[in-house]
Amino acid sequence: MNAAELEQLIVADGSQAQDLRAEPDRVRKATVGDEVHLRAIIEFSSYCRCNCDYCGLRADNKNLTRYRLRPEEILQAAVVAESLGFGTVVLQSGEDEGWTAEGLAEVVADVKARTHLAVTLSVGEREDWEYRLWREAGADRYLLKHETADRDLYERVHPGASFDRRIRCLEVLAEIGYQIGSGCIVGLPGQTAAILAQDLLLMRRLNLHMAGIGPLIPHPDTPLAGMAIGEAEIVLNMMALTRLLIPDIMLASTTALETAMEGGRLAGLRAGGNVIMPNITPREYASFYEIYPGKKAPHIEIVAEVERAHRVIAAAGRTVGKGPGHSPRLTRQAVA
Ligand code: SF4
Repeated sequence: MNAAELEQLIVADGSQAQDLRAEPDRVRKATVGDEVHLRAIIEFSSYCRCNCDYCGLRADNKNLTRYRLRPEEILQAAVVAESLGFGTVVLQSGEDEGWTAEGLAEVVADVKARTHLAVTLSVGEREDWEYRLWREAGADRYLLKHETADRDLYERVHPGASFDRRIRCLEVLAEIGYQIGSGCIVGLPGQTAAILAQDLLLMRRLNLHMAGIGPLIPHPDTPLAGMAIGEAEIVLNMMALTRLLIPDIMLASTTALETAMEGGRLAGLRAGGNVIMPNITPREYASFYEIYPGKKAPHIEIVAEVERAHRVIAAAGRTVGKGPGHSPRLTRQAVA
C-alpha cells in the first residue's frame, strides 16, 4: 500500500471501515495467533523534564503531585505482577533526571534476578551508553513513541525536542538489540490523513516489534486543554492498517482508547490488537501519573483491573497469552 491508498483507508467509516478491519483480524490470527499478551505497567516516576503540549506530566504543570517509587517498591510491584500471572513488566516514567542510568540498571537486574519476567523500559530519550547499560542489565524491550511522523508538527507540540533525535534513539535501540516499540497519537492539532499515512510508513520502515496507537486526550493543565479527543474510529483504522503493514507486530489495544470510547479495548483487539497493558502501579501513587485526565485504571484495584482485562479478552473470543510474549520474530530468529 502506498501513501495515497493509506490516506483513503485511514478515514474509512461505516461499512468501509468494517471491511477494512476484517482482513487484519485474519492476518493477526495467522501470524501471532489468538493469544492476547498482558503487560503489567508500573509507572515508577511522574517527574519529567519535557514539556509536551498535551501531557499532564509536563515539567511546567505545577498542579501535579510528583512521586518517585523507591527501587524496593518497584521490585515489589514486579513480584506482584508475576504472582498475578503476568509475563512482562513495563517500567515507565517521565523523563526523570532523578534516576541515574546505574540506578535503573540495578532495578532491571534485580527484577530479572528475582522473577522470570521480561522487562520493557519506557523512560524516554537517553544517551546511547545508558540504553546499552540497561540492555546489559537484562532489559528486553524498549517503548518510545514517535508520536507523529511530521517533523514540523512533532517539534511544534514538543517544545525543545528534536524529531531527528527521536528517530535516532529508536534506531540505536534496535541496533543494541532491544525489541523496539513505537507509535503515534491521533488527533494532534493540524494533523491530516496524509500525516497519519506517514506514521504508518515510518512504523513499517522502523520494522517495529511493538506498537501502540492512541487518541489525543489533552490534559486540562496543558496548552492543548480544551481540544477535542482524537477519534477512536481513526485509531481503530490505524491499528488495522498497522497489522496489515507489519503482520507479526505486537499491537497494543490501549487504555487511552478505552477512555475515548466505551468498549475501545475490545474493538482494538478486533482491529488487529494482541496486547493489553493493565496498570499495576501501587494505588497510592497511580492517580498522580496523570498523562491525561480520566484514566480508568488508577481508580480500580489491581486485581479487578487484571480481571477486567481477562473479561475483554474472553469477550473477543481470545485467550490470555502465556510466558513473556516476545515478538514472534525473535522466536523465529532463535530457531533459525
Ligand atoms: S509525554 Fe512523556 S516526555 Fe512528554 S511530558 Fe509526558 S511524560 Fe514527559
